[in-house]
Amino acid sequence: MKNNNKINTRIAPSPTGPLHIGTARTALYNYLYAKKNGGKFFIRIEDTDTKRCKKKFFRNAMDSMHALGIFEDALFVQSKRTEIYKKELKRLIEEGKAYISKEKSKKNDKKFVKVVRFKNHKKIIEFKDTIRGNIKIDTTELGDFVIARSISDPLYHLTVVVDDEDMEITDVIRGDDHISNTPRQILLIEALGYTIPRYTHLPLIISPDGGKLSKRKSDTSILNYIDSGYLAGALLNYLSILGIGETDNTKGQSKDEVKDMKQLIDFFDINKLQKRSATFDNKKLDWFNKQYIKKLSYIDFRKHLSFCLFKKYPLKSIIRKKITTEIFKDLKERYHTFSEMKDAVKIKEYDYLFKSTNKEAEKIPHNKSSKKDALIHLKRLVEIIKDLDTFTVENLKNSIYLYTDKVGVGEVLWPFRYSLSGKERSIDGFLIASLIGKKETIKRLNETIKILEK
Ligand code: GLU
Repeated sequence: MKNNNKINTRIAPSPTGPLHIGTARTALYNYLYAKKNGGKFFIRIEDTDTKRCKKKFFRNAMDSMHALGIFEDALFVQSKRTEIYKKELKRLIEEGKAYISKEKSKKNDKKFVKVVRFKNHKKIIEFKDTIRGNIKIDTTELGDFVIARSISDPLYHLTVVVDDEDMEITDVIRGDDHISNTPRQILLIEALGYTIPRYTHLPLIISPDGGKLSKRKSDTSILNYIDSGYLAGALLNYLSILGIGETDNTKGQSKDEVKDMKQLIDFFDINKLQKRSATFDNKKLDWFNKQYIKKLSYIDFRKHLSFCLFKKYPLKSIIRKKITTEIFKDLKERYHTFSEMKDAVKIKEYDYLFKSTNKEAEKIPHNKSSKKDALIHLKRLVEIIKDLDTFTVENLKNSIYLYTDKVGVGEVLWPFRYSLSGKERSIDGFLIASLIGKKETIKRLNETIKILEK
C-alpha cells in the first residue's frame, strides 16, 4: 500500500438480498468519512458466492446508494478479479504460508476436493478499533482455516484483504458482526506483507423492542422505504444520526437539523460514533420525512402522488387546481409519508370537497352546546351567506365573525365546518365554503338543519 496520507474507504455489499438499511448506513459513514478527509469512496460488490449472489440485488444495491446520493469514485466487482486473487493465493502457497489440502467433500464423502488452507501460527492478534478500543483475540481455535475452495475459487477472507490492499483502503468501516473476522484477515495481511488498515466496527441497528431490526428482508430494504413514501433526503439524514450519541458540537449544528450532503459531510465525526447499538426509531425518521415533504414545491409534491385519483370527480379545471392545492397543503400538514397520504385519499378523506357527505346529528353541535343552539346558528349562517355578493374566504370571515363575536366562535364555526365536511377534522370551514361555492354551501347547511329538525 502506498503511503500518501490519503483516506480511502469502501462499502462491500454481497448482493444476496435487497440493500439493507444497516448496509446503507455503513455505506454512508464510509462515504462521509472519505469525503470529509478529501479521500475516495469505493463500492466493491462481493459476489464470489455465485450460488447466493444475484444480478438483481447488485442493481438494487447500486440503485439504493445512488437514490440516497451516495456515489462511488470507482466500482469494483469481485467476480471479475479472479486472476488477482489467484496470483496472491499462488504466492502464499509458494512462500509456504498456505497449502493445498486434499479433503473429503462435505457434500459427498466419496469425493475429494483440493481446498487451500492458511498455515496458522496460532498467535494472539491485537488491533485497535476506533469505537471499541483495543481488541485482543487468540487465533488458536481458528486452526488452519480455508481461504479458497480451489485455486480459482477464493473465499471471503482472502478476497477482502487482497482487494483492500489493491484499492489502498486506509479505513475499514463495517458492521461489528465482522469483528470476529478481523483476526483471520490480519493474519492474512501479515502473511502477504500488506498494510493493516484502521478498523471501525459499527454497532448493530436494532428494533425498538431490542430485537433484530426485521426478519423480513423487504421491511429493511432501502428501495422499499423509498417506494413506501420516504424521501431519500429524509432517509439519508436519519441514517446519518443513527449511531451517534447526543453530540455537543463545535459548529453549532444539531443532529436533529435537516442537512444536505455537504452539511452532513461537514458534521460527520468518526470519533462521535457510539458503542451501544443504535435503536431504529420510526418516529424520528417520520419527522425527517415530514420536514422534507414540507419543503417540496407544488410540482415536485404532485409528482409523488398520482392525483388521477381525483379525476373521477367532474370539475372545472380551475376549481380542480384550487381544490388540489388545498388538499396538498392539508396532506403536507397532516401526514408523514406519501403512502399515508395515498391511503387518506383512497379512503376518501377529501370527498367533501367534491360532493356532500354523510353527517350524524350527534356530531353537529360543538362540545357541550345543544342541538337547539346549533340549529339556531346554522339558520342564521344561511341568512348571512345568502346576503353575500362575493363569496370569498375574506368576505365570509368578515360577516360570520360579526355573528360569532356575539355568540361564541366554536359554537358557530364547528357546526358550520361539520355541515360542509361531515368530518370532525377537515380543512378550514371558510376555505371549504369558498371552494364549493355559495349554492353548495347553503345546500349543505340546509341538509344539517333538516337532520337537526327531525
Ligand atoms: N461482504 C461483506 C458483507 O456483505 C462485507 C465485508 C467487509 O466489509 O469487510 O457483509
